[in-house]
Amino acid sequence: MSVTGSCFRSVIDMISNFTEIGIPEDIAKAMDDMGWSEPTPIQVSAVPMGLEGFDMFAQAQTGTGKTGAYGSIVLGTIPAQKKVPSAIILVPTRELANQVAGELTKLSKYTNHVTLPIYGGASIEGQIKKLQKGCDIVAGTPGRVRDMVTRGILNLTEITTMVLDEADRMLDMGFIEDIEYILKAMPSKRHTLLFSATMQENVKQLAYDYMTMPKEISVSQDEVVLDNIKQYYISVGRRNKSWALCRILDIDKPKALIFCQTKKMVDVLEERLKALDYKIEAIHGDMPQFKRERVLKDFKGEGVDVLIATDVAARGLDIDDITYVINYDMPDDIDTYIHRIGRTGRAGKEGIAVSFVTSEEKHLVKEFEMRTGMDIQKRDVPEAEEGTKDTIRKVVDYDQISDVFGMCKFEVNLGKNDGFKKVSLADFIIRNARLRDVAIGKIQIGDDSSIVEVHKDFGNRMTMDLTKAKFKSKKIMVRVIQD
Ligand code: AMP
Repeated sequence: MSVTGSCFRSVIDMISNFTEIGIPEDIAKAMDDMGWSEPTPIQVSAVPMGLEGFDMFAQAQTGTGKTGAYGSIVLGTIPAQKKVPSAIILVPTRELANQVAGELTKLSKYTNHVTLPIYGGASIEGQIKKLQKGCDIVAGTPGRVRDMVTRGILNLTEITTMVLDEADRMLDMGFIEDIEYILKAMPSKRHTLLFSATMQENVKQLAYDYMTMPKEISVSQDEVVLDNIKQYYISVGRRNKSWALCRILDIDKPKALIFCQTKKMVDVLEERLKALDYKIEAIHGDMPQFKRERVLKDFKGEGVDVLIATDVAARGLDIDDITYVINYDMPDDIDTYIHRIGRTGRAGKEGIAVSFVTSEEKHLVKEFEMRTGMDIQKRDVPEAEEGTKDTIRKVVDYDQISDVFGMCKFEVNLGKNDGFKKVSLADFIIRNARLRDVAIGKIQIGDDSSIVEVHKDFGNRMTMDLTKAKFKSKKIMVRVIQD
């Protein structure tokens, strides 16, 4: 079977969405095989902290991807094939035990962890045999797990990670004694993760009795309201995006969240803007959790005006006073676009979303307008104030000004009065600007000057090399025609 370049790339993109939040590659690959394309909000909030070893108290309902969240933490932190279990997941029902074991088995396709479901109401002998063969993770109901421990079949002395899933239901079903018995059978120094749909009092009690300074996470439905957001786009080529961005930062002085498509681009832009003394910070999934938390805290405060981020790192970000969202790189799907711009215009405030759009991306503006049913107006880069200099200079972006065939127009100060005809002028330019003859297109000969089409790849040679040449004693001048 052959894999095309673009197909291969999209698989890598999907995997990198997961590795960006710290999920090891062999687990990310299994997620891709399961058809998952990006982490859910609970996965984005829980996985990085969990992988760093923090205890966690998470409010999340079924359907949020919580099994994938704690599953990645467990698989990412315990050894495989050790035979004596290193992790145990307690769940309220037999169905859930099977479901969790099934999902973990799929997630460990490339890590080779073995997960066994252990639950009551089914023959105990079969489960005993399987336990005796050894496993890495037990997903079980409290009553049957306790039974197995009492019989000396299940050894919990090497448990390093414990998950209480649907803790509120387990307590409502009267499992507290079994849970406490099981907790005492395992080392007290362990990593504990608790998931619950509600935060009722007895759940909190359990959390604080059995966890060490747990991090609290709550995942609510993140509804985006676009009504308060004015949407704009600026037509700008790749080479001039940082110039346009600095103009906006200098003149509009926004509290801005800036989205780039890749971690690499976030790093490059961070370095460029910091070198120019802008008060900015950056966030993406390769940074350790403590640094991300510090960056977010700084951005929420006064000291930092601009945060540069990737999509995954900024997911769910809820900061009331972001005035601008800037799509430094335009996203190519509507969900990402809506999610990004929804970081502004919150809590009843007005927000502005500005997207930088290259000539190849123009179609996305139309598409997003249709999908949101709202206008995305064209606007220009703000004018510089009289007498002020740009921090980053605008350059000619031949990609942006070329036509669909990649041709750009130049005005050259040679024409009929210098004795040129189309062919002789083409020859002169080819020789002096070191062009390939296929790089030259239409020529309109004028009296004193002519318009010449040249392929964008040779734009620099037209303005640099050709202007070094002379015709007789006349200095050659070249002007790029931008409309
Ligand atoms: P849970 O909240 O764990 O019950 O998960 C709900 C469903 O979402 C399950 O069918 C999971 O397999 C699926 N799921 C979990 N994480 C993802 C993801 N990142 N992308 C797509 N589906 C997912």
